[in-house]
Amino acid sequence: MTSPYFSSRPARSAAAKAARALSGLGSVRKTAAKPAAERKQKKREHVKVEYDDVQVKEEVLPDISSEVLQVNNDIKDKVVSPGKRRNSSPKKSDLKKEKLDEDTWEPANWRELLKNIKLMREDETAPVDSQGCERTADESESPQIVRYQILVSLMLSAQTKDQVTFAAMERLKEHGLTIPNIINTKEDKVGQLIYPVGFWKRKAIFIKQATEICRDKYDGDIPDTLEGLLALPGVGPKMGHICMHAAWNKMTGIGVDTHVHRISNRLGWVKKPTKTPEDTRKALEAWLPREEWEIINILLVGFGQQTCLPVGPRCTGCLNNKICPYGKSAMSGRKPKKQE
Ligand code: SF4
Repeated sequence: MTSPYFSSRPARSAAAKAARALSGLGSVRKTAAKPAAERKQKKREHVKVEYDDVQVKEEVLPDISSEVLQVNNDIKDKVVSPGKRRNSSPKKSDLKKEKLDEDTWEPANWRELLKNIKLMREDETAPVDSQGCERTADESESPQIVRYQILVSLMLSAQTKDQVTFAAMERLKEHGLTIPNIINTKEDKVGQLIYPVGFWKRKAIFIKQATEICRDKYDGDIPDTLEGLLALPGVGPKMGHICMHAAWNKMTGIGVDTHVHRISNRLGWVKKPTKTPEDTRKALEAWLPREEWEIINILLVGFGQQTCLPVGPRCTGCLNNKICPYGKSAMSGRKPKKQE
């Protein structure tokens, strides 16, 4: 059907068309002005069409959007370019394998290394065997006092040789190492009694504070949980785990001090070199059978005091010098890898 708009257009003669072509105006048309009523009607029709389009979209989109999303996700999962796959997060199977490796990893020759260390420590002549924290409490006292003395001994032991801790404990016991007596002892006096243990001034403050907490919160006993012990001032994870075992006979974790940390790294008993004793504790607990946790601290501390010294370890006389990674390097004249 012919539109009334086009039917009203004036006819153009062939001569007029030729003249326009020559003048360079091309196909630009100059149309006659349309009546206002026509223009209005045309505009209304146009708006109506647009409105109809929007209505259709709004009605249809919600119904298909969930399907579209699902399809898109399916496509994304299936169609991933190899390059993109490499950069994306690891596959589930890779993660599973990694987890399995973590769970089953154990150091090479660890049984033989441990057996040799036990052999070398058989005579129990290291300072820790006679003067370690577990040996300093007065066993003739009540279990409550023994537990408190174990705690104080552990607090003194940080950054201090066993012999120095032991001597300080002897002075404290002579003074009366019980909760009521330390509450009544001035901080200066405690400092005087424990000198020259490392950081003795700070330790005197911590002992006084911890003793007050034991009196007020634990009915004159020490906390019986690791969390409770770690909440005491001056008590760290190593002390907490050893105290739980020595005072409460509960094994909560391996006590890792500087000896255990150093030797574990030298023996390759950590999957990757560790920077802190706490990292070493986690690494050891990941593979060392639980029945060894109880003795590993005292075993390695004594071994570190007598043979695997911090500086100049005595690798020549060590039974492990052919299977210990650090010792093998040292014996072959190669510079051992830097230890943490
Ligand atoms: S070989 Fe040397 S580094 Fe290794 S455990 Fe023995 S003393 Fe320590």
